[in-house]
Amino acid sequence: MIESKEQTCVVIGASHAGVNFAFSLRKEGWQGKIILFDADPHLPYHRPPLSKAFLTSEAGIANYLLKPEQSYQNESIELQLGKSVTSINRDLKVISLSDGHIQSYDKLVFATGARALVPNIVGLSAGAHVCYLRTAADVLKIKEAYGLSKSKKVLIIGGGYIGLEIAASLKKLGASVVILERERRILSRVTSPEMSAYFYNLHTQNGVEVYANKQVVSVETLEETKQVTCQDGSEYLADLIIVGVGVRVNFELAESIGLEIENGIKVNEFAQTSDSDIYATGDCTNHFNPHYGRYVRLESVQNAVDQGKVAAAAISGKWQAYDSIPWFWSDQYDTKLQIVGLADGYDDLIMREDDNQKRSVWYFKAEKLLSVDAINNAKAYVIGTKVIKENKHINKNVLSDISIPLNYDLLTS
Ligand code: NAP
Repeated sequence: MIESKEQTCVVIGASHAGVNFAFSLRKEGWQGKIILFDADPHLPYHRPPLSKAFLTSEAGIANYLLKPEQSYQNESIELQLGKSVTSINRDLKVISLSDGHIQSYDKLVFATGARALVPNIVGLSAGAHVCYLRTAADVLKIKEAYGLSKSKKVLIIGGGYIGLEIAASLKKLGASVVILERERRILSRVTSPEMSAYFYNLHTQNGVEVYANKQVVSVETLEETKQVTCQDGSEYLADLIIVGVGVRVNFELAESIGLEIENGIKVNEFAQTSDSDIYATGDCTNHFNPHYGRYVRLESVQNAVDQGKVAAAAISGKWQAYDSIPWFWSDQYDTKLQIVGLADGYDDLIMREDDNQKRSVWYFKAEKLLSVDAINNAKAYVIGTKVIKENKHINKNVLSDISIPLNYDLLTS
């Protein structure tokens, strides 16, 4: 079904999810208007380089655009940047904007993503020397503050991917970096103790001080320095504090109009919310993943792109259920980590060390492969993806034996 010319699809959020959705919708043959709104005034950009190349280079954000400006014009996709959606009327099918304007819609898409979590830490007000990292503006602020810092002492609160990637980047610039993580190990929310140990060693070998069991409870400003105090009484001094303690989903607008909310905006396998004319895609959604048989909320580029395609197809009358296998990556120093699948709930793992640089961790539940973490090992990532997709059984003896090269046929025969 191709919609008539008068129809309007409004998208709230112009990052990976919103932009990929908009281009997919046009590709599906939508003839009507497509309008993207985003509070961020910059042309939509890639987020992964924010904590890496964009942080360490002189290049402007224009070098990291999701699409060249001209391509929005070519596809008649209207970008309304620097504007927030303040309210929605589902009965009238209109949205209201921060600049007072009102826009009607036939189909509405939430691609509202998430925002950096602001922790409840005494004295931690977001001033010039307290930064977060979620947007291009955040990175520009970090760069400025880092440039002004005298001793180049940076303290990062939170040892998740954001904290670790920032640490690796700033180390490259010559900073002295301390990471404070409140859990018993870094990356505890997202990976196994084995992987946490790998990244702990990687960072300490590169000169980063990494401390676990350190919950930051207060921050005090002493002239030009910040003094950070942890629950155990330990204190650290820094010129600059960067906070990376997780995200909060931007679901409040969806909640205000009565859409079903449960760990994000709940959508069906077609990215459709509890209102059949309203869809949601990307980090803000809680959706069913058939490979794992449960609802998941993913913070990833893969999900933003794939779910956008599913939503675009559904709006165009092609009901193709979302069935992607999640994948992620992270670059720190010379280490390239590629992850396929979701390891949560694993009951067995096999760590394979092909050589000093190349490793992989294979996670199983009831003998079924759930996920692979591949460190500088694209082959492990590719084979893991194929095995999970095809739901094949792996011979663990072959996998554990590093004298046998990693090979799909040998592993699955
Ligand atoms: P995260 O994975 O939730 O890690 C944050 C860590 O900070 C958690 O372990 C948290 O512990 C800890 N923490 C919270 N409060 C603290 C305190 N007061 N003192 C010390 N530690 C504290 O989140 P993130 O690293 O900020 O990542 C944010 C988002 O960016 C996520 O969506 C992530 O997936 C995404 N991202 C992904 C990549 C990638 O895939 N390569 C790269 C960058 C960012 P608790 O668990 O106890 O709260």
